[in-house]
Amino acid sequence: MKNNKIIIANWKMKLSLAESLDLARAVKEKFKDFSGGQVAVCPNFISLKEVGDILKGSPVKLGAQNVFWEESGAYTGEISPRQILEAGCSYVIIGHSERRKYLNVNYEMIHKTIKTVLSFPDLVPVVCVGENWDERKTDRRDYVLFDQVQQALSGLNIPGEQKIIIAYEPIWAIGSGTAIEPAEAEYAHKIIRITLNDMFGLKVVSNNFSVIYGGSINSHNVKGFTGLEDIQGLLVGGAGLDAEEFFQVAKSVASGKEED
Ligand code: PEP
Repeated sequence: MKNNKIIIANWKMKLSLAESLDLARAVKEKFKDFSGGQVAVCPNFISLKEVGDILKGSPVKLGAQNVFWEESGAYTGEISPRQILEAGCSYVIIGHSERRKYLNVNYEMIHKTIKTVLSFPDLVPVVCVGENWDERKTDRRDYVLFDQVQQALSGLNIPGEQKIIIAYEPIWAIGSGTAIEPAEAEYAHKIIRITLNDMFGLKVVSNNFSVIYGGSINSHNVKGFTGLEDIQGLLVGGAGLDAEEFFQVAKSVASGKEED
């Protein structure tokens, strides 16, 4: 288990170019000897290339926060999988809830984007799913997760070696400062995994898919999320904006216990 955990930081639209480069340098330094799992940071588009250049030779990989479903063409304001690959990306977040909320991104668009990304073997999609507070409060979470995973992935052919990360992010926990109970996250991960098993079969799911949690994780609460079989890593927002905090979270995940 130890070395296959995944820790991804989403820097959102929070940093200037100069701040992104400073953080990239600090992250590179902190993680220089890290071997406890896959680590990536997702800066804004204008910082991607330069952050990627800084991270060369580091175990920390580069990810993009979004990508378009067409490979090229007249799509003003969009960015293609090939372009983010050129910038050095290995990961791309697809369907983050902030894009679903503010930009009306829906699971039909998410499905088309995943389909395109799957034709680029060097790019790992990080597909976000998660219920909102109303859905959770009214006991619709399980169905919502089942439905989102189905809409995002049904009918897709998963190439043999292609990795796909599903990020379970309960919308009501993101940016709230309070993560959900680890047992509740674990249960949601099971729902996602059962859905994936039904769709793709156990073998493909265990070879190709990882399910990670995101929502207000920090170095203090990460302990509850480590060492859980169904939670294969974390997507962090706020905790990824400070190199030391991000490192402490990653170390905890990698070692399966909280660092003091
Ligand atoms: C996110 O936006 O994906 C996220 C997990 O943010 P935070 O950790 O700040 O809740």
